[in-house]
Amino acid sequence: MRGKISFPAIFYAQEKETKKMLKILTSLLFPNNCPECKIIIREDEVFCANCLKKNKPIVSDFLPINQNYNMPVFALGAYKNPLKNLILKKSFNQSWASIKLAQIILQRLTTLKRLKIDYIVPIPLHWTRYASRGFNQSEIMAKVLSKELSIPVLNALKRTKRTKFQSSLPVELRVENLRDAFSFVKPTKYNLPILLKNKNILLVDDLCTTGATLQTAAKVLVKFNPKSISSVVACRVI
Ligand SMILES: [Zn+2]
Repeated sequence: MRGKISFPAIFYAQEKETKKMLKILTSLLFPNNCPECKIIIREDEVFCANCLKKNKPIVSDFLPINQNYNMPVFALGAYKNPLKNLILKKSFNQSWASIKLAQIILQRLTTLKRLKIDYIVPIPLHWTRYASRGFNQSEIMAKVLSKELSIPVLNALKRTKRTKFQSSLPVELRVENLRDAFSFVKPTKYNLPILLKNKNILLVDDLCTTGATLQTAAKVLVKFNPKSISSVVACRVI
């Protein structure tokens, strides 16, 4: 008669052990280094504690959306290294940097986990810019947050015109640059009036310069009568 542990159980236990050993071996051969100072860090860390301290967390700010509503903006820190280096990685094959930004947000912005959120909405790229980069940083960040927080991503916005890079323009031209830059997705894809009514939305972007991008996006969404709109970015220019 067969014992309590069947063959498959022994097999899977051995397989698990082998995987564990391989993981230890890989971490010894290819240790995880802090991209800033190169010291060895834990596998789940992105930067070492010293480098992360260079980005002091920013107290959340509010952006006016309409007469009745101000949107809170949560940010990891000011737009400087080491986070700035990750934000600037926008070329092909650099989507890993956006994943890391979202991981740091999850680790450090614990307020996010206490926030009531029904949908995570990434700030979109114009399709031409998406085509040249191959990914949208905000969307990648939104997906990581979505997985960890178990909240769905809703691509409720799309860029309707290709805007110039906000950072390349003088402040007085930035709002004009974004005028009508967003619209909502066609009702054939999402029924936004029903989906968003009385819901709590979290907008996600990598960088907040003047706040004009987030404000413009929130002004589109607020028309669907959500309960709240908050936003989170990796860095803010202050
Ligand atoms: Zn470091």
